[in-house]
Amino acid sequence: MLSRDLGADLRSQSENYGGPSNTHHAEAQNTYDVIIVGGGAAGIGAAVGARQAVPASRILIIESEGFLGGAGTHRGVNSFCGIYSVGPDPKRVVGKIWDDVHSRLVSVGAAAADPDQIVALVQNFDPEGLKVALDDLTADYSIDVLLHCTVVGGVREGTKLSAVIVQERRGRRNLFARAFVDCSGDGDLAYHGGASTRYGNHGRVNMGSLSTRFGGLSGATPTSSLWRDAILAAKKVNPQLEQRIPRNVGVLIKLPGSGDICTYMASAQYDATSSASITAAERQGRKQAQIYLSILRTLPGHENMTLVATGPNFGTRESRHINSRHMLSEKDVLEQKEFGDTVAIGGWYMEWHDSSQPDWPIHFRTPPDGTFNIPLQSLQSIDTVNLYCAGRCADGDGAAGSAIRVMGTALATGQAAGAAAGLSAAGEGEAAAPDVRAVLLKHGAILDRTGLSTVCLKIRDDGKNLSHREALNGH
Ligand SMILES: Cc1cc2nc3c(=O)[nH]c(=O)nc-3n(C[C@H](O)[C@H](O)[C@H](O)COP(=O)(O)OP(=O)(O)OC[C@H]3O[C@@H](n4cnc5c(N)ncnc54)[C@H](O)[C@@H]3O)c2cc1C
Repeated sequence: MLSRDLGADLRSQSENYGGPSNTHHAEAQNTYDVIIVGGGAAGIGAAVGARQAVPASRILIIESEGFLGGAGTHRGVNSFCGIYSVGPDPKRVVGKIWDDVHSRLVSVGAAAADPDQIVALVQNFDPEGLKVALDDLTADYSIDVLLHCTVVGGVREGTKLSAVIVQERRGRRNLFARAFVDCSGDGDLAYHGGASTRYGNHGRVNMGSLSTRFGGLSGATPTSSLWRDAILAAKKVNPQLEQRIPRNVGVLIKLPGSGDICTYMASAQYDATSSASITAAERQGRKQAQIYLSILRTLPGHENMTLVATGPNFGTRESRHINSRHMLSEKDVLEQKEFGDTVAIGGWYMEWHDSSQPDWPIHFRTPPDGTFNIPLQSLQSIDTVNLYCAGRCADGDGAAGSAIRVMGTALATGQAAGAAAGLSAAGEGEAAAPDVRAVLLKHGAILDRTGLSTVCLKIRDDGKNLSHREALNGH
């Protein structure tokens, strides 16, 4: 453990070199008010929410990768969904916290000022830009960050978590906090901390996909239906491809700047908690990416197409969920159930993926006006009073979970869980829902789906040919 003096030394070094002082601060101490595991959309939201709840609190994000952004940076998911509701009359459903992220993306040239139209209104971004935008955001909010640091255990005191055990290159140490937020996507904190979790729902999880980023397309007009037709034609000639590349179609995301196209066709069903199973999926996914490339290169204007990158990591859509006080259900979403403790508004489809669905978009289902409520109960551990969760590991059944997981919604559930954890850390017990809602409303969160305003933005139409909708029309 580092001494106080060394901590002071590190801080003064960082001032001299102009480096981010919060990184050195995180190195030097091991006690926090709120610890957040995972630096994806949910973790970023949670850090901001905790800061807004209690401005003086000490907040740490622990992230196993070398940068923030979660799936947005290390799984090649380059489009924020869930900021706007789906359907014919899109409404903004994630409040000011999105402006905080979006304005930083725009300022580093990593996203456009206006949203993109693909399957619905989304915001495409360049992942390198997201990395620096989130470095800046966490520094501006004085959030301590530890990268290359993995949570491998937890210490309990009765019904509370008191510490997480982290693995760093130099070994293991304990980091203590008064409240915790699991934003690991895989429920790692809850699971290792002895809280109640489950893997997927009813023995099933959504299938994962390996992001494939293609370049060399400046002379081409790639469209989802063009690519699908080429894949189907290749399968007709070589029926073995049916097994090797099950998917025929995917959304095409055009990245700002490079103009590269990201898609999620390479897919596999695997156990996200097993390294052996993930290893098999990674190998299979890389092969699939090469096969798609060889098929698509035969298209006009695609002769110079290259595979810029896969992943880097296989994209897990679903893994462990925390068992909460209320599992958000398909019925809650479809009936737009009202909750007294609503802390976020969902705005995305129920989007289930499995290997029986090579043309996945037909399985999108939409709540009546494209919106639904998410209660605080679904973010609160059922058996660990100072543990909250958000994002992908929040509690939803197969259908509802597939709607709440997207990154825009994860930002909002993160902010709510972080605010709750911040208040819980500052008090003696768990946070009261009205207090959490008050913090969120004070900071511009959207919590009422009845008064939403229609989006009056200039919508760029880059993506009009890149969506699955066109593919479906022809199918
Ligand atoms: C192929 C694919 C395509 C998708 N397409 C879209 C899309 O277009 N738009 C959209 O909005 N969403 C999309 N999604 C869903 C979305 O990416 C995720 O649901 C979302 O990123 C969830 O955010 P999160 O912060 O909960 O989790 P993540 O983004 O997964 O972040 C979790 C973070 O926790 C870290 N972590 C995990 N375990 C530990 C540990 N033990 N210790 C320390 N750190 C840990 C991880 O490294 C990771 O950075 C897609 C998902 C996939 C897989």
